[in-house]
Amino acid sequence: MDMRLSKSFIKTKKNTPKDEVAENAKLLIRAGYIHKEMAGVYVYLPLGKRVLENIAQVVREEMNAVGGEELQMSVLQPKELWETTDRWDDEKVDNWFKTKLKNGTELGVGLTHEEPIVDALSDYINSYKDLPVYVYQIQSKFRNEVRAKSGLMRGREFLMKDLYSLSRDEEEHERFYEKITTAYHSIYARLGIGDITYTTVADGGIFSKYSREFQTLSEVGEDTIYVHEKNEIAVNKEVLNDEVLADLGIERSELTEETAVEVGNIFPLGSKYSDALGVFYTDENDEKHSIVMGSYGIGISRLMGLLAEHFADEKGLVWPVDVAPFKVHLVSLPGGENQADQLYAQLEDSDIETIYDDRDMSAGMKLADADLMGMPLRIVCSKRTATEGKVEASLRPTGNAELIDTGDLSAIQKLLES
Ligand code: ATP
Ligand code: MG
Repeated sequence: MDMRLSKSFIKTKKNTPKDEVAENAKLLIRAGYIHKEMAGVYVYLPLGKRVLENIAQVVREEMNAVGGEELQMSVLQPKELWETTDRWDDEKVDNWFKTKLKNGTELGVGLTHEEPIVDALSDYINSYKDLPVYVYQIQSKFRNEVRAKSGLMRGREFLMKDLYSLSRDEEEHERFYEKITTAYHSIYARLGIGDITYTTVADGGIFSKYSREFQTLSEVGEDTIYVHEKNEIAVNKEVLNDEVLADLGIERSELTEETAVEVGNIFPLGSKYSDALGVFYTDENDEKHSIVMGSYGIGISRLMGLLAEHFADEKGLVWPVDVAPFKVHLVSLPGGENQADQLYAQLEDSDIETIYDDRDMSAGMKLADADLMGMPLRIVCSKRTATEGKVEASLRPTGNAELIDTGDLSAIQKLLES
């Protein structure tokens, strides 16, 4: 898919809504990626939708690689299911959105899916031969967050990947837990934040001593973590005490305090949900056993906000190649229209996704828009380049321009890989 700006409704903007305080949302609104519906709720415009989809695709590939099977759960949830595990009451879970059927029956709007996943899988799990199961979805979640001032990083409606593992015993669970930790690091590395994202020891809830969060260093983060540089791990402030330090074999003096964004977490659940919902399996001898579960989240839309804010410079967005909605931003300037049209036709036939600014606008505005929108490679066709039979290519963010032969797609590909 390619895109001509002259045929699209997309426009960059000078102004952002007065109540928008988050830098990531301001930038994305100005660059024409998202529209603010209300606090914590955003519309993903064509460019934004492509970024979200690209991030989701990286996550999907890594989840498939560890044996995850993708499905899609329902957003509407029956109250009874959540009463079984005592997670319906607002005293217990305070960020539900709830609604009612015409006949008064109460429903919940999905904020996580442990209960419904176990319930749905209960039809398929009887014996040890049916396990382990690893299922995941990439779906909008709804949470009545008290504060939604961090743009895409804290939505009331947001996109999450949630995977659930159902294993036969602790050992099988542990193996998967380690495997998915590695997969998470591959995801963050592919998104360009591998070197600033730490596996972080966090509160384990009631099933295990600790859980693992994945925290990315960022000044705008809402979490405080303590980083152990040498061991490439961190400890969430919530659990920093002598016991944790002893468990990890580290000293308080080796830690540095940092602000970070939680971009994912993985949670041992024990058998709480499966036991409560009455789902067990039988072994070779027909003996009944509890299922050991884990849940594994990644904030897809939060990552989009984080990447936007993290890589941006004073001119605008700067996307990593794998995430960018288009790889090439082709700009035609006066006298370069024919050359640009020709190159666009070639790019359309290739798999180099291209956004083409063929609008009748000033060179200054078109170049500023290209900077703001943040595609990795800008190619400019002008009267001068047309005369020379070359085009001017420059990588975002350095902006250093070089001339390449018109139609040399392999040179373009090489620049994108550099
Ligand atoms: P937080 O402490 O930030 O509220 P959480 O512990 O509630 O996160 P989970 O319920 O485990 O998070 O959700 C899994 C992932 O979904 C989180 O690691 C985070 O990346 C993302 N996430 C959670 N809440 C939001 C939100 N309101 N907006 C965007 N992403 C979110
Ligand atoms: Mg939360």
